[in-house]
Amino acid sequence: MTLSIVNPASQSLVRTLETHDEGAIAAAFHAARSAQPAWAKRPLSERRSILQRFRALLVERAETLAQTLSQEVGKPIKQARNEVGGVLGRIDFFIENVEAATADNVVLDDPAAKLVEAIRVEPLGVIANISAWNYPYFVGSNVFVPALLTGNAVLYKPSEFATLTGLAIADALHDAGVPKDVFIPIVGGGEAGAALLAQPINGVFFTGSYGTGKKIAEAVAGRMIKVQLELGGKDPTYVASDADAQAIAEGIADGAFYNNGQSCCSVERIYVHESVHDAFVEAFVREVKTYVMGDPLDERTYIGPLTRSAQVAVLEAQVADALERGATLHVGGHRATQAGANYFEPTVFSQTNHRMALMRDESFGPVIGIQKVASDEEAVALMNDTAYGLTAGVYTPDRARAERILREVNAGSVYWNCCDRVSPRLPWTGRGHSGIGSTLSIAGIQAFVQPKAWHLRG
Ligand code: NAD
Repeated sequence: MTLSIVNPASQSLVRTLETHDEGAIAAAFHAARSAQPAWAKRPLSERRSILQRFRALLVERAETLAQTLSQEVGKPIKQARNEVGGVLGRIDFFIENVEAATADNVVLDDPAAKLVEAIRVEPLGVIANISAWNYPYFVGSNVFVPALLTGNAVLYKPSEFATLTGLAIADALHDAGVPKDVFIPIVGGGEAGAALLAQPINGVFFTGSYGTGKKIAEAVAGRMIKVQLELGGKDPTYVASDADAQAIAEGIADGAFYNNGQSCCSVERIYVHESVHDAFVEAFVREVKTYVMGDPLDERTYIGPLTRSAQVAVLEAQVADALERGATLHVGGHRATQAGANYFEPTVFSQTNHRMALMRDESFGPVIGIQKVASDEEAVALMNDTAYGLTAGVYTPDRARAERILREVNAGSVYWNCCDRVSPRLPWTGRGHSGIGSTLSIAGIQAFVQPKAWHLRG
């Protein structure tokens, strides 16, 4: 079986790769199982130095890696460079914090009773990391860096749409000194992911859509292994009545359209108080009209092609449904055929409502709906009217008002006067259909170890 890597901007074939079949995946699992104990026994300082070398190799190879990423997922080159550069801070966070996050913890030392109670952690073992294509460096490193630092072996299945990047990551890890059997890339699509889950792995860490996440949870149900799912979103932001609508439109538009709207935490719904609604829509549309769509390798390009051609039809259906239900289209609305097969015009609607798929289902593309609201309470009710719960934001100069609103919102991350933002120091976590578990932060290191309770008498 082979996998064709196709450039989404030109539709030209970049490379053909052999995929892993079930036998090869079983062999990879056995190799990882044998190699993991020795990796875990190495001093933490050695694993940290190896990951530090990996970081240095990413810096050294940054331009080649960005070009590869841009070619296979269609990410505009500046944004590809941002991603390769942006991952360094995450690696630093993990390297700096792994020791404290996994240190032995003596919780009782009672000489009179001759009793010591201590918590020590151990790696999970061999884990599967099944990853998405939209930010392969970010979502991959959130898992494999802390997993490797804490002594696990990783079977890493990059998305079939970001496989060259996945293989480049594997090369850099191996060149840095991670043994080949401790980090094994698995090439293939959904079938390869499913075959990986059939192995007796000790945990699965998945980033992708709700639909696939549900299948994964079902596939391993009953096996009592660690399952972490980072899934999609329909992230709202609210522009309150006292916000400076003109000043904030540019930042919110970037939050909606960066990476062509293909971010799990892209702004996907905007609610605007009626008193600033018209000014906001005008400023927002003006900003979106400045976006340059084109060849992702061109430095000027802000909107590249969609990575998956199938998503074009999803966006077309959302646009048709919104129009049919009475939304006002301000700009865009069509597949941009002149620019290449997967291009879709940046699209802005107002006068939307929750009967429209545009306001309910993840768009994962350059399409956004703006809805007028009459009060903070209405905004909160609409923000919470979703099966997802990844991020939500509020724009107002009044921090107390923002905190009052954000306390009521059911989402894993909340933003005041910002959006589409991830910090390595904070847990990245979803609620509802946005997933279970946390990556990043101390919690995102401890996710890769299991505690052992020591009762020591004598
Ligand atoms: P996807 O669900 O289509 O695929 C994700 C991965 O799952 C791929 O590697 C794919 O090959 C694999 N897969 C598919 N079927 C499988 C199966 N039956 N068993 C095992 N593996 C299987 O998602 P995608 O298109 O790669 O990514 C986009 C989605 O990811 C969006 O919904 C986005 O919001 C979400 N996402 C979430 C986060 C987050 O941190 N919450 C980050 C990035 C992307």
